[in-house]
Amino acid sequence: MLDGRCQDRSFLRTNIPLWLFWQFFSILMTAWNIWLNNNRWKMGKRDNDLNSFSSRLHTLANNLWWSWNPQAQELFKELSPLVWERTNHNAVEVLKELSRQELVARLHDQDFFQKAANVLEDFESYMEETHTWASEHAPDLKRPVAYFSAEFGLHESLPIYSGGLGILSGDHTKSASDLGIPFIGIGLFYRHGYFQQRIDPSGWQQELYPMNHPEQLPLELVTLEEGGRLLNSVEIGHSTVYLQAWRLRIGRAVLYLLDTNLPENDQHFQGLTGHVYGGDIDTRIGQEIVLGIGGARLLASLGIEPAVYHMNEGHSAFLTLELLRRSLKEGRTPEEARQAVSTRCIFTTHTPVPAGHDRFSSELMVHSLGRFWGETGLSHDELMAHGRVNPDDQGEWFTMTVLALKMSRAANGVSALHGQVSREMWKDLYPSVEVKDVPIGHITNGIHTPGWATQKAHEFWNKRLGVDWTAKLMDAKYWHKIEHNGLATDEELWALRYTLRRELVEFVRTRMREQYLRTGGEGTISADHALSPDVLTICFARRFATYKRAPLIFRSLERIIPILTNPERPVQLVFAGKAHPRDNEGKKFIQRIIETSRHPQLAGRVVFVENYDMNVARHLVSGADVWLNNPRRPLEASGTSGEKVIIHGGLNLSIMDGWWREAFNGTNGWAIGEDHSEPGIEAQDEKDFENLFRTLAEEVVPEFYTRSERGVPTRWIQRIRNSMRTLVPVYSTDRMVGEYVRRYYL
Ligand SMILES: *Cc1c(COP(=O)(O)O)cnc(C)c1O
Repeated sequence: MLDGRCQDRSFLRTNIPLWLFWQFFSILMTAWNIWLNNNRWKMGKRDNDLNSFSSRLHTLANNLWWSWNPQAQELFKELSPLVWERTNHNAVEVLKELSRQELVARLHDQDFFQKAANVLEDFESYMEETHTWASEHAPDLKRPVAYFSAEFGLHESLPIYSGGLGILSGDHTKSASDLGIPFIGIGLFYRHGYFQQRIDPSGWQQELYPMNHPEQLPLELVTLEEGGRLLNSVEIGHSTVYLQAWRLRIGRAVLYLLDTNLPENDQHFQGLTGHVYGGDIDTRIGQEIVLGIGGARLLASLGIEPAVYHMNEGHSAFLTLELLRRSLKEGRTPEEARQAVSTRCIFTTHTPVPAGHDRFSSELMVHSLGRFWGETGLSHDELMAHGRVNPDDQGEWFTMTVLALKMSRAANGVSALHGQVSREMWKDLYPSVEVKDVPIGHITNGIHTPGWATQKAHEFWNKRLGVDWTAKLMDAKYWHKIEHNGLATDEELWALRYTLRRELVEFVRTRMREQYLRTGGEGTISADHALSPDVLTICFARRFATYKRAPLIFRSLERIIPILTNPERPVQLVFAGKAHPRDNEGKKFIQRIIETSRHPQLAGRVVFVENYDMNVARHLVSGADVWLNNPRRPLEASGTSGEKVIIHGGLNLSIMDGWWREAFNGTNGWAIGEDHSEPGIEAQDEKDFENLFRTLAEEVVPEFYTRSERGVPTRWIQRIRNSMRTLVPVYSTDRMVGEYVRRYYL
């Protein structure tokens, strides 16, 4: 060995120049190789990529994951800003617009290519991630949760929702995906969706029903392995109604939308799934048969055996009858069968008034479900008993909520107060227990925060909290950071507020201009002078159900006008919302708001934005300084729109109802009135208006306009910090779905 080393050394000594040259040469070759490889890799990858890129982009466009990832939206927007706008942000339509030639050419733009590559990588690693919240906290949840809902509010380009219930379903699904929960949604594909709203010159709501074309949406027809559509059927009356299903991907979750628009069906039934909550009572029960029974059959035909069936509101409760039918067929006694069904079902109720629950007469039940029921061997009375509080009362109608309660192992309301109201409402179903022991709990609703945060908000928090803030939505400690000036200074928060307020002002002006163009002529004020980015901005946007009392703030115009028009401390109001097509009282509310917006002193200071949808909502919840919520208590079971303002630094001003009753702590927003309600509608309206007026005049307005020498409303910003710190980690669907998992799904 010794010899060898000496030999080595002498070799080196004598050949140093050669050796050096050799080293130098190999370094050169390595560098050359790296360069070459890199380029070859790039070019090879580019060629490969161009082939696979387009298919990867299509996969991305067909998965609504992009709807809560701003960079992905940016990508589609950049490909065609016009189509993106015109189609209400439809990624599938954007890709349809581009020829392959154009796509290939655009990908030769290095910056764009890199952006696209980053987004695709994010998306693909999200889809493949196996280490999730669920893998850690719910490893036993192996089979999927089947979540039934009559509406899903997932994105503005897919208008198959009418309001809060749909938004909640959509947000629930997105969080289930984020948390890694095996999750399958079941809903209906509405060809005409929910209507688009136009306001005519007299201030009256008009309804338009554009078509939803599946080929223009991220929908994929569910087919059989051997080819052809997968068809299921349900019996409605004497007819067999066929159903096809559309598959929609929402991150890692899947949603199936049932559709009766098939040549196999009678004309009449082809339109059954046409409109969200459309038509008469026959349509209603028909849609619910399709959703519940059809949905259960779809799952079976796909070979899916859910861990749990979650009924989001009573619309889908017929699914329990289908499970009951199967259970009876397996030879169980009726009571055994009922128990077997109830161990697999859970139910969330949303409606705090008895009149809001679906009820069907005995005749309608016989007419619609007679044939289906005939197969079970049970009598009509036995069927009706499942939907009656008092099974022996022949006159009592069949109530979907009662069916759902009797057929579930657990049930909940959507806020603490709503849980209480629900226990009171259904106590007769449980005569042997006290009201407080009625088995209806509560899980308070949240929102899918990353999906509601605008791009500006994402950028702001990405920079300050890090891009993983969206994964920390259940971590109260994490959000304590907001308390400190170090993370974001008062000035920076105020700059964010200004940016978002201006975005809203410009959005409203653009919408007004379009409206003027359409209706031919200016309104009382030119669009360019509507609203001001310097003015305290209060937004009120929600369905115009009368209990939400949109015009409450105008109860006394003489008193509110001086507040709104105070030259030192002005206030502006932005309204939006749709009334149900058959709700004339709600439409009158809209008309009153429109009339008020034309009041000579209020023009440009009070505006109504047409066609409230998720896009309008996103602009309003981000631009609002104050989110006004004044329902007639306790009718707002939870409410969620106020939760969407939090991440944008908006503040809530709300009646102590629904979620706000448990969220308000004295410093994170404002309460209108106390934690109780006046008896009597008129008395409540009067009292609530007085409290609203006083809080606005004495607290909200002065605090907004009290500025430091640097122009910042210091106390206001402190309130924003309190709001974010205490509310972000609680009022998200991550927390909510986590609760469903721990308490109900497992
Ligand atoms: C959030 C949202 C709702 C629900 O708002 P509530 O406050 O619960 O009434 C309804 N519609 C749209 C478009 C929304 O974004």
